[in-house]
Amino acid sequence: MNDNVFKKLKILSDAAKYDVSCVSSGVERKNNTVGGIGNASSAGICHTWAADGRCISLLKILLTNDCIYDCSYCLNRVTNPVERATFTPEEVAELTIQFYRRNYIEGLFLSSAVEKSPDNTMENIYRVLELLRYKYNFWGYVHVKVIPGASPEIIQKTGMLADRMSVNIELPTRESLRMLAPQKKIESIINPMSLINNEITRTIEDKSHFTSTPRFVPGGQSTQMIIGATPDSDKTILGLSQNLYERFNMKRVFFSAYVPVISSPNLPAISTMPPLLREHRLYQADWLMRFYYFHSDELFTEIEQNLDLEFDPKIMYALRNIDKFPIEINKASYEELLRIPGLGVTSARRIIRERKNAELSYDSLKKMKTVLKRAKYFITVKGRYYGNVKIEPEIIKRELKQQEIQKQLSIFDVL
Ligand code: SF4
Repeated sequence: MNDNVFKKLKILSDAAKYDVSCVSSGVERKNNTVGGIGNASSAGICHTWAADGRCISLLKILLTNDCIYDCSYCLNRVTNPVERATFTPEEVAELTIQFYRRNYIEGLFLSSAVEKSPDNTMENIYRVLELLRYKYNFWGYVHVKVIPGASPEIIQKTGMLADRMSVNIELPTRESLRMLAPQKKIESIINPMSLINNEITRTIEDKSHFTSTPRFVPGGQSTQMIIGATPDSDKTILGLSQNLYERFNMKRVFFSAYVPVISSPNLPAISTMPPLLREHRLYQADWLMRFYYFHSDELFTEIEQNLDLEFDPKIMYALRNIDKFPIEINKASYEELLRIPGLGVTSARRIIRERKNAELSYDSLKKMKTVLKRAKYFITVKGRYYGNVKIEPEIIKRELKQQEIQKQLSIFDVL
């Protein structure tokens, strides 16, 4: 690698670190080409974790950080005097192949600032894919960003070669976008999401009739939202996420705690800590929406529009809806079982399966390795309540806090 490319790599891999939407789940594709290299597998390709706990890919780079836009929260904005660099598509393709051959990586996560114009940048991203797929015969996992405002034709042809695409929504409301990223219009973000979703649906349908139909973005699409740069509430953020999952069949909505790096009257002060616990709670709530049949509205009240930082969203839901508890383990539906704090998908399925044979007792639940530490406050088994305290939110909260203290003390015991 020559010095010039190495210098660009340093700048453009560093500039990519704030993008968290690089998880590659969901693609299983064998390489069927003669002499081709690289398979895409669903087992978390080319990602690792940075010191702050974020998931990053081993070759996670920007094509360029030379941006014509001026988003207030971004280090690469045109008015910020940072060192600029731009790869040529040939350089990115060659780097990917060199790193792949040395076993450093299994795929590529390619994002970009907007250089010259959205179409120009998107065309260069397409060119990287074209070189990888047809010049180097590389069929490993590639996730690329869609540049808001790029024309549908370029997005469409890029999608024929990419495993996953993502259009970053960045901020949850039109007002927030107007304030911090005035050159980005909500339509330039939503329209490509819609196009990708329609194309995915169309190719899946066509494939059921014609097996030779080429696939379009087989790993689906994802997006990313910055958390804490604007005063938007968790209710707004999760409401939008729910909408994106439903309307565009989004695989994932990633949340990225805003790291204050820029001084601006429209942004939190530089000394503000990134809201990492808030980000964690949003991921927990997102999980409830995707796998536990929760609607985002159920996680909030008229007054409380943000997730609680002390207790997780499922416990808070149960405490606020205590009139729906305790739930009888021997009678509850699968969906009801999933609403019990402490019970997950595996436990709920096991309970449904085992109670077909015989009515379950508290002991049989324990034998089935059901974790009851939290669940006991929210269930009855054969009509009996095992929580040993009054079913009142404040009392249960106190018990749960006590459990947490004991857990922490036992960690120190081990040390
Ligand atoms: S378009 Fe992207 S790279 Fe450019 S300033 Fe906005 S967020 Fe930064």
